[in-house]
Amino acid sequence: MNVTAQMPSPVTTGTLAGRVALVTGSTRGIGLGIARALAGAGADIVLNGFGDATEIETTREQIAAACGVEVTYSPADMTAPDSIAEMIETTTARFGRLDILVNNAGIQHVAPLEQFPPQKWDQILAINLSSAFHTTRLALPAMRRNGFGRIINVASAHGLVGSPFKAAYIAAKHGILGLTKVTALETAEAGITCNAICPGYVSTPLVEAQIDGQAKAHGISRDQVIRDVLLAQQPNKRFATVDEIGSVAVFLSSTAAASITGIALPVDGGWTAH
Ligand code: NAD
Repeated sequence: MNVTAQMPSPVTTGTLAGRVALVTGSTRGIGLGIARALAGAGADIVLNGFGDATEIETTREQIAAACGVEVTYSPADMTAPDSIAEMIETTTARFGRLDILVNNAGIQHVAPLEQFPPQKWDQILAINLSSAFHTTRLALPAMRRNGFGRIINVASAHGLVGSPFKAAYIAAKHGILGLTKVTALETAEAGITCNAICPGYVSTPLVEAQIDGQAKAHGISRDQVIRDVLLAQQPNKRFATVDEIGSVAVFLSSTAAASITGIALPVDGGWTAH
């Protein structure tokens, strides 16, 4: 029997059919989860981020085949404004529109303030904050032309509260909530919304790296790090999944969320309820 014939046909009629979504930092982790979810809802996708070229191409092909949407890839470096400009230009030239912009690319560095390397501060501010300013300012003309836009900034519970040793990350995440509000106010009458998602801990390679680093630093097991260090402030004691964050992004991209703008939405298992 032909197994392929039994597979459901690719979805092209989802709530986001006809939309074009660009997700920065989407070659893995939360960005990839969001890209898959938006594609699953019918949007064409522009992937971005670093990684092995063959793996990225495989991911691109898999999403396109599974969801029946177009998927392209931009290698733009989020520390480089020229590279970001080229990515936006290529997207609008290729698709003729840009409806959904997800500013997700981000990195972390953990160190006390006195030992925090200045170049790490600059790099984190560039990727986690300034890149969103550049993508937003460059994407807005295309959104205004269509009278529709959804800008989603992936911030963090660390955009709402502080923790020691993450000065640059937390400064950038608090900063992106400010950018979210300003963008929302400037676009409120144009059919465009801008919101931030504030995840607590999500199971991704970025967090994996922290588990190993903290286990070494504290001389404790990975399980102890997960429960007593990382999830110490997260009352539900579980990592969120990238699919959960993806579903929130699909909702914020939908017409149902047309009146939601300028918010910082915690998806943090109760962390910021403290
Ligand atoms: P990750 O390390 O798994 O993925 C980061 C992505 O960003 C990768 O695709 C990587 O290639 C890309 N990237 C890194 N530097 C880049 C650059 N200069 N230019 C272009 N792309 C670049 O991280 P993640 O855990 O999926 O985190 C994604 C976002 O979610 C980040 O903004 C992070 O701060 C935020 N976040 C993560 C968690 C969590 O628990 N994982 C919690 C709250 C917020």
